[in-house]
Amino acid sequence: MPIYNKYWNEQLETLPREELEELQLRNLKDELSHAYNHSPYYKRSFDEAGVKPADVKTLSDLSKFPTIDKKTQRDTQGVGSFLGELAAVPEKDVIFVSTSSGSTGVPTMSPFTKQDFDEFQDVESRWFWQAGMRPNDRYVHGLNFSLYVGGPDVIGAQNLGALCIWGGTLPSERLLFILKAYQPTCIWTSPSYAFYLGETALKSGIDPKKDLSINKIFVAGEMGGSIGATRQAIINIWGAELYDFYGLSDIFGACAAQCEYHDGLHIAEDHILVETIDLKTGEVIPNGERGELVYTTLRKKARPMIRFRTGDIGKFVTEKCPCGRTHGRIYVDGRKDDMFIVSAVNVYPSDIEFVIRGLEEVTNEYSVRIYEENFTCRYDVTVENAGASDCESDKKVSEIVTNALKARTGVKPARVIVLPDGSIERSTHKAKRVIDERKLSFDI
Ligand SMILES: [Zn+2]
Repeated sequence: MPIYNKYWNEQLETLPREELEELQLRNLKDELSHAYNHSPYYKRSFDEAGVKPADVKTLSDLSKFPTIDKKTQRDTQGVGSFLGELAAVPEKDVIFVSTSSGSTGVPTMSPFTKQDFDEFQDVESRWFWQAGMRPNDRYVHGLNFSLYVGGPDVIGAQNLGALCIWGGTLPSERLLFILKAYQPTCIWTSPSYAFYLGETALKSGIDPKKDLSINKIFVAGEMGGSIGATRQAIINIWGAELYDFYGLSDIFGACAAQCEYHDGLHIAEDHILVETIDLKTGEVIPNGERGELVYTTLRKKARPMIRFRTGDIGKFVTEKCPCGRTHGRIYVDGRKDDMFIVSAVNVYPSDIEFVIRGLEEVTNEYSVRIYEENFTCRYDVTVENAGASDCESDKKVSEIVTNALKARTGVKPARVIVLPDGSIERSTHKAKRVIDERKLSFDI
């Protein structure tokens, strides 16, 4: 691929919408037939719903089919065969399985055939190229390799021709040594780790802007990469461009990624059909409206995902991006599981992060505790005073944070606890900032 080419696959990435949707329809019909004919689960669930792949004449006909979710995966895993009832190929055709982190329950397994895996890596190359990576770049892959679907994404960078350093989750001192000794130009980590690593570098006398060569940072796994204030904090430390990537262990390491306009994340629509549904009714709502994102794989053979409810809340837009790509963009606001309701207002932890990261009076570290008091949901926020911590100053900071949270989310926290700088444990990799102590279940 010539280095000056703007697109990894120009024909596919800039396909006129009409042709893209025709391609999706052809692939959707094949995917539904494959699922129906080879997966015991889909055979049963389509029959029960009274739908057949042959009923699909337009893309919107997909809405007649039943949805699946994480629970479907857990319930069918290991049933009938090692790969479970959702799988649509025999085990001999599978070359790779990843498992989810299990952060919201039993880990789920995601199988790939050789073709699934190669296509997965081609999509990863597309995202890296879109973010400006070229064969003359040196790239450190700083994601966990152990079982995690983000691990193999490094192969996408290698197939693109970049020099790849399989860093994994190295201790920060070793990683900083590599950044200094090898002077790589790109790195992929979580947003909280990108920030932490930058701060650690500064503390050990390395100025990322002057002493290192990182000019592109890819982040995924947490909301921060698309939250303006968090983005800015990372960019300020590194002086690098920041690209938010979005992955699902159930589909690909990264299913969607930002282009140079950083306005939403392009999703690989040749592989994934996006629907948005109303949280309460489950009905499909128009593109551009906020709801739960539902994905259908269009080419995956090992385990087709038909109408998978991701639990991610956001919107999907199909207006053409100034970058020339015609594939739609997703904007993810948070996870359904993370959302909580205070005084009938939906509060997302991403909104709290937006507020904290935008205030000069506090550091970037914080935690949120959600709990019940008198059968009412409340939340406390703990922050660090960025200045000298004393009684008067802490009180002032607490007021500023309370008012800013009220302005953004619509509801005040029950308490804002202000601690001196350095009191909150710095996280490496995926930060666990929300402690949910609720025992009641809240319907949304
Ligand atoms: Zn774009």
